[in-house]
Amino acid sequence: MNTFVTLGINDDLLKGIAAIGFEQPTPIQEEVIPLILDQQADMICLAQTGTGKTAAFGLPLIQLTEEATRQTQALVLCPTRELCVQVSRDLTAFARYVKGLNIAAIYGGASMEQQIRMLRRGTQIIVATPGRLNDLINRGQVDISQVRYAIFDEADEMLNMGFQEELNAILAQTPAEKNTLLFSATMSREIKNIAGKYMSEPMEVTIGKLNAGAEHVEHEYYLVQARNRYPALKRIVDNAPGNYSIIFCRTRQETQEVADKLSQDGYNAEALHGDLSQAQRDQVMQKFRRKSLQILVATDVAARGLDVNDLSHVINYNLPDDIANYTHRSGRTGRAGRKGTSVAIIQAREQFRIRQIEKKIKKKFSRKQIPSGLDICKKQLFNLAESLTTTEVDCEQVDQLYPEIAAMLAEVSREELIKKLLSREFKQFFNYYRNAPDLNIKEGELKRASHQERSGKNEQRFAGGKHQFTRFHLNVGRKDGLLPQGLIGTINGAPGGGRIKVGKIDIMQTSAFLEADSRYIPQIMNAFRHTTINGKTVSITIARGKPPIRHPKQGELRRSKRRKFKHA
Ligand code: AMP
Repeated sequence: MNTFVTLGINDDLLKGIAAIGFEQPTPIQEEVIPLILDQQADMICLAQTGTGKTAAFGLPLIQLTEEATRQTQALVLCPTRELCVQVSRDLTAFARYVKGLNIAAIYGGASMEQQIRMLRRGTQIIVATPGRLNDLINRGQVDISQVRYAIFDEADEMLNMGFQEELNAILAQTPAEKNTLLFSATMSREIKNIAGKYMSEPMEVTIGKLNAGAEHVEHEYYLVQARNRYPALKRIVDNAPGNYSIIFCRTRQETQEVADKLSQDGYNAEALHGDLSQAQRDQVMQKFRRKSLQILVATDVAARGLDVNDLSHVINYNLPDDIANYTHRSGRTGRAGRKGTSVAIIQAREQFRIRQIEKKIKKKFSRKQIPSGLDICKKQLFNLAESLTTTEVDCEQVDQLYPEIAAMLAEVSREELIKKLLSREFKQFFNYYRNAPDLNIKEGELKRASHQERSGKNEQRFAGGKHQFTRFHLNVGRKDGLLPQGLIGTINGAPGGGRIKVGKIDIMQTSAFLEADSRYIPQIMNAFRHTTINGKTVSITIARGKPPIRHPKQGELRRSKRRKFKHA
């Protein structure tokens, strides 16, 4: 079997990777490291994310760099700042025992001055996002005229994100005689274009099955009505005790809402999206990596650079608009030989998209039933019982105090003791799931949905209805801590509030707009009267100007028993 030594990696780097804990090269490393070290050729490497590609190009790149000169010799381009930070951190770790090597991470959203200072020191390897690097080139702060290696990492993503122009501008500054290495999870027309433009007779290396979902990932979907999406999510999470998951949402707002709801409901969950500051994002990612955070709710872009190996689940709260993103999402689990599950929560009318994804990833999804409250309680109980049997008793204090405790519990039978322990642990859980309804779509509804899909009648169920939405204005906004669930909770608190349909909610910095069922205007106004949020008195008015009236759509945000306003 190949080892890093037989691949030609030098002693300093061997020490570096040994310190990280790499023992055997991954398939991509076995294939690509000798090629980069031995051959002066351009290369297209098609591989899934999580296969070890950073070390595949990073190790030979570092080895081929001359530390004696401070000239920039290698340029690694990444689509996102997270990936950029991750790659530069990995390279720095590999090069821990290589003296005199400077590696700079150049990405947007961080101090430009600091990056300029770093560049002035002279860095042999630059890892950059195209936008920021291009800015610095335009300011005359970067010299890449002597670059011998240009690496496109996740090239498909850079193109998806519209970096074509920046790439053109950056590569125009590099010498023609260099090696260009391109890494991508897919071979698209755009990738072929890039290869045609910037590479000469590139070798092609394919690792694993192209465009295929990672081998160790099971794909599952659950059918729900839109209003049950969140309760279904909770059941899926509850039915996987000890899971370590990323939940993908479509928008930043949805990401924040789902994370807020989960944490209000007692889950260890936080959001990761582009509205957070770089420092906040770093903090969340660090917590997640260290596993002090169990569930990360993220947008596709924000999660791109996150390097986490042992996710148990990837949950698609909504399917991505672009199917290619499904591959990226699901590829985050089932890594490094471990098993993973990629879950999609969908409405009946989205089933055709599952079929599209199956074609693309060449794998079948299995349709799962949303577990009942009883199923979940059972699963949790068995999980606790199992973890009790495997818990080691290695605490001196337990031994010391045992006789006293045993005497206290002498009257309680073993059976009673077990029952008491379980009731104590799970009381809230059992209460929550007592009489929990079946969230699965009934066969009749399913038939209706597929009939509607065929006849193009989706989302028109209310079009013939008599009621409309009115738009309200509130004098409180994000700065005051206003959240959509607060608004919905207040409306639900009104007499008969559960029947009031809520439409679009726009929360700005200091004010908000809310659309709600016009038949209940007095109830809605009353619900907010005399309320405060963070000490500020709320005032609600009907929004002036011609309100954009529309009919509520099927499944629009409705009832929720979330946080209410405080009544003054
Ligand atoms: P990458 O595809 O470069 O993002 O790597 C995916 C994950 O695999 C990272 O967490 C790496 O630290 C890890 N990894 C890469 N190469 C090896 C190796 N040879 N042995 C063990 N883990 C590795």
